[in-house]
Amino acid sequence: MNLVYIGLGSNMDDRARNIRTAIEHMRNSKGLKVLRVSSFYRTEPMGYEDQDWFLNAAVELQTSLLPFQVLELLQSIEQKMERSTPVKWGPRNIDLDILFFGDKIVEEPDLTIPHPLVEQRRFVLEPLVELAPNGIHPIHKKTFQELLDELGNAQKVEKIQGDS
Ligand code: ADP
Ligand code: MG
Repeated sequence: MNLVYIGLGSNMDDRARNIRTAIEHMRNSKGLKVLRVSSFYRTEPMGYEDQDWFLNAAVELQTSLLPFQVLELLQSIEQKMERSTPVKWGPRNIDLDILFFGDKIVEEPDLTIPHPLVEQRRFVLEPLVELAPNGIHPIHKKTFQELLDELGNAQKVEKIQGDS
């Protein structure tokens, strides 16, 4: 069994609905046990800035599947939700990323765990820290809370009250 953290993001159409739908799909996926869901956060886009704010959240789940099997499940959920990505880092209706997979380190062409740049992304760290402030980044050997504290708050992230 591994404790796994998934990052969810949406900035198209009804963002909260997209995130809730993706979580429902995870709950219905054989082999994944969704344990906890973070609040939802409104976050400023990074990389490609001429687009709407994102909604981001994190999910904690338990699984005995392998990392590639979980990636496949998440990709099938993205496909079911007809994810469209016209522009790299541009608008998307749903993005599901494996952030951490227990303390595993995976470096394959199609799968990098921990997810790269977690430590530079407040939109990933805020919801993650809400769930697991004492979780450890297996490469940096720092807690998620420490990574967030070091990052500072240049990127705007607002917790949405009562909407998760
Ligand atoms: P991004 O999430 O970087 O904005 P995409 O979701 O379009 O961009 O990237 C999808 C690709 O990222 C997939 O083809 C997948 O193989 C690869 N990938 C590598 N590592 C991970 C990971 N930890 N979680 C999800 N996808 C990953
Ligand atoms: Mg992705």
